[in-house]
Amino acid sequence: MTAQPDESAFAGKVALVTGGGRGIGRAIAFAFAARGAQVAVCARTSAEIEAVAGEIRARGRRALAVTCDVTDEGQVRELGRRVTAELGAPHLLVNNAGVFTVAPLVETAVEDWDRVLAVNLRGVFLCCKQFAPAMIARRSGTIINIASAAGKKPYLNQGAYVASKFAVVGLTKVLALELQEHNIRVTALCPGGVNTRLVADARPELDRVEYMAPEEVARLAVFVAALPPEVAMDEVVLRRFAAPVG
Ligand code: NAD
Repeated sequence: MTAQPDESAFAGKVALVTGGGRGIGRAIAFAFAARGAQVAVCARTSAEIEAVAGEIRARGRRALAVTCDVTDEGQVRELGRRVTAELGAPHLLVNNAGVFTVAPLVETAVEDWDRVLAVNLRGVFLCCKQFAPAMIARRSGTIINIASAAGKKPYLNQGAYVASKFAVVGLTKVLALELQEHNIRVTALCPGGVNTRLVADARPELDRVEYMAPEEVARLAVFVAALPPEVAMDEVVLRRFAAPVG
């Protein structure tokens, strides 16, 4: 990797990070803001996203927190209206909101299956559908979908999650094909284990000492979003070094 883009790399750009109240999304929101972007963050409840937006404003950037459940088409439409009215149409969209569940596939509750697919897949689809048209009209934009290493290989007892993330990688590739002629880049980031609440809540028994920091994924998101015009990264797998190769 080259040196990280400097503090004005995203000056004049608007970024939207879904699920930006904590974990990986929060780290990406801060990393984009630190490089000059105006940043909108959304999640279902307001406390965490308000805190992130407040911290970004305290560092002298414009920021917006919008309460939104990404599975709800009407709320995503309202998210689009608010972000566009208050900051402008996003140049950078990071579909990060996600949930995780652990159970053998045949024992997975139907409600858990539906919830994981709704947030991790339908949410990405709805947000792409909402925000890509303005990028098409502008003939520029970057969409980063936070998939997972579980979007590239199977993991025991993670059937719903793995299915959702494989689907996100597929959606990302199709969107990249369809938006290429409009000068828009679409990338799937596929991290392995990252030390966030998502893992802590679902698998409290795990020792996360060798898990990656959310800031490492944010560093990669900045790198992808700042690629020169002649370069695209369709997918990036970020492996925990202690995890098996492949
Ligand atoms: P996290 O639980 O800390 O954060 C998830 C965020 O998504 C939260 O802000 C939450 O409020 C938001 N969210 C959940 N459901 C939502 C909904 N319906 N509408 C709007 N927002 C919603 O988890 P994280 O680890 O930071 O996960 C972020 C993304 O990274 C997820 O897509 C996850 O699948 C992916 N990921 C995580 C890991 C890991 O090991 N932590 C690894 C690979 C990929």
